[in-house]
Amino acid sequence: MTVVTRFAPSPTGYLHLGHAYSALFAAQAAHDAGGRFLLRIEDIDPGRCRSEFDTAISEDLAWLGLAWETPVRRQSEHLPDYQAALDRLAGGGLIYPCFCTRKDIADEIAAAGGAPQGPDGPVYPGICRTIAAGERRERVATGQAHALRLDMAAACRRAGPLSWQDDSRGKIAARPERFGDIVLARKEVPTSYHLSVTVDDALQGVTLVTRGEDLNDATDIHRLLQALLGLPTPLYRHHRLLTDTRGRRLAKRDRAATIRSLREAGRTPAEVRALTGLAAT
Ligand code: GLU
Repeated sequence: MTVVTRFAPSPTGYLHLGHAYSALFAAQAAHDAGGRFLLRIEDIDPGRCRSEFDTAISEDLAWLGLAWETPVRRQSEHLPDYQAALDRLAGGGLIYPCFCTRKDIADEIAAAGGAPQGPDGPVYPGICRTIAAGERRERVATGQAHALRLDMAAACRRAGPLSWQDDSRGKIAARPERFGDIVLARKEVPTSYHLSVTVDDALQGVTLVTRGEDLNDATDIHRLLQALLGLPTPLYRHHRLLTDTRGRRLAKRDRAATIRSLREAGRTPAEVRALTGLAAT
């Protein structure tokens, strides 16, 4: 089977050395296996994504010496694919509209004296899960803003026990229930990171997902969505995260570490690749 990898940045800022490492890591994995390397632009969030950063991503990766297959998939151009997945989950009775504001959720958690901590923060206390079907329909029909949440308990019952394969750690038992009822479509965006990444990896035929170890826990959710949507499960290879000299994870605010500023400071592509520790591709 041909190995297909991808690098999937969001155009919310200039790429930095951590992104360079992640892109080189994915390209190298494809190269080593005689496979294919894809670029995907994860631009579902119109409030944070900018086209100048999208353009800069291709420029910076090409400057580094990377080549990827075209056309590049831009998530904002494929909203019907995510809608189809939502329809399927809705047909199975696995999602529900959530009308809560952040404040509603915070107040409910405070009133309950706390909430279990999931990998991404406090678990949603289920306020909208119990709204009767008729009221739900009416509030949606009258245009009340709502997100769509996965009914996690029902989804886990439907899917049964699941696991996924980590390239270095072997078989990992998925525990998506830790996250509670996650948002699959946001109020202002008709999809979410978890839904679009899972659908896209399947539609693009990605066989080896390489990404930072900060997304290790999220893989449990992606595995569950694959099971519910009848999608294939790729192999996963999570890599370490690059840090600055003080040991902090590189972030988009670290202007000095952007590929662009290194280039403007006169560094060569080979030097920047060497800075990531993945010089030879
Ligand atoms: N777009 C995600 C990010 O920039 C990466 C998603 C993934 O590789 O699964 O963190």
